[in-house]
Amino acid sequence: MTFNKDSRFDSSNVRRRRPSSGGSGSGGNRGGSGLGILALFSLLGRRGGIGGIIVVVVVLFILNALGVPIGQFFGGMFSAMSGDSSYSEEDFQCTGAEANASTDCRIEGASVSLEQFWPVAAEELGIDDYSHPSIYLYTGQTSSACGTASNAIGPFYCPADASIYIDVEFFDMLVSDYGAAGGPLAEMYVVAHEWGHHVQQVAGILSSANTQDEGPSGGAVRTELQADCFAGAWMRDATTAVGEGGEPLLQEFTRSDIEQTISAAQAIGDDHIQEQAGMEVDPERFTHGTSEQRTTWLLRGYEQGVTSCNTFTVSDSEL
Ligand SMILES: [Zn+2]
Repeated sequence: MTFNKDSRFDSSNVRRRRPSSGGSGSGGNRGGSGLGILALFSLLGRRGGIGGIIVVVVVLFILNALGVPIGQFFGGMFSAMSGDSSYSEEDFQCTGAEANASTDCRIEGASVSLEQFWPVAAEELGIDDYSHPSIYLYTGQTSSACGTASNAIGPFYCPADASIYIDVEFFDMLVSDYGAAGGPLAEMYVVAHEWGHHVQQVAGILSSANTQDEGPSGGAVRTELQADCFAGAWMRDATTAVGEGGEPLLQEFTRSDIEQTISAAQAIGDDHIQEQAGMEVDPERFTHGTSEQRTTWLLRGYEQGVTSCNTFTVSDSEL
């Protein structure tokens, strides 16, 4: 996948976040509560946590349960929430040439394209109060209203601050640890998947009761597969996005782009992740769907658009 190198674009929703020098405050309040009682969402979620919204909270709950003084343990990670200056944030602009060369700019480009796609798609879904999420790019760790973001957890969406957190190094891990083929569109798929969770939040889906139920046809799997389908639906229209001067942002996707994206979806299927971890495949602990399901729903969105993403109404066998 290639950006048109002369395109220029800027998403005000994407910011780089870095620790300020000397900024290490003390622990503070943890946000994102209300997602508790999820302890068993667990280590599997953490390993496979491409976007487990809840995963961060779960890890914190586990640590809490183990008696780890969380704030102290992570050293100031929550301090940015309380408004001090532990982190500096930078809005940035990119050209297509830069997006072809760097992950940060690729995510910026994905965001610009998603910003153009979702207002229309949300209307198609009957969502009338749609607004964009923020995206924070960081390396190492940073704070969110749902707890600490780190590359051990993977990209995730935090409903409490309507923000997506992405450690850009995660994309290397997707290849090295999960066996994905890599590739720029695969990275943008991950962004689009998290954006899908934001749409679910705006639509009131995330706050419904069962979105954390584990199991092969549970609410968690249905939530994740819908986010994959939403990502696919965006891919279907992504290349219509334009830059600041109305120029096309992206060239048409190639077969290899699509294959790389499928490879990413397969790499983060629950069955594959359990196997990678040396565990026996246990459908009762599924939270994101199998490799095959993730591929199926990604392609369904890609071929049929957002209104086909009805993971909550199909029967177990159709999931
Ligand atoms: Zn997800």
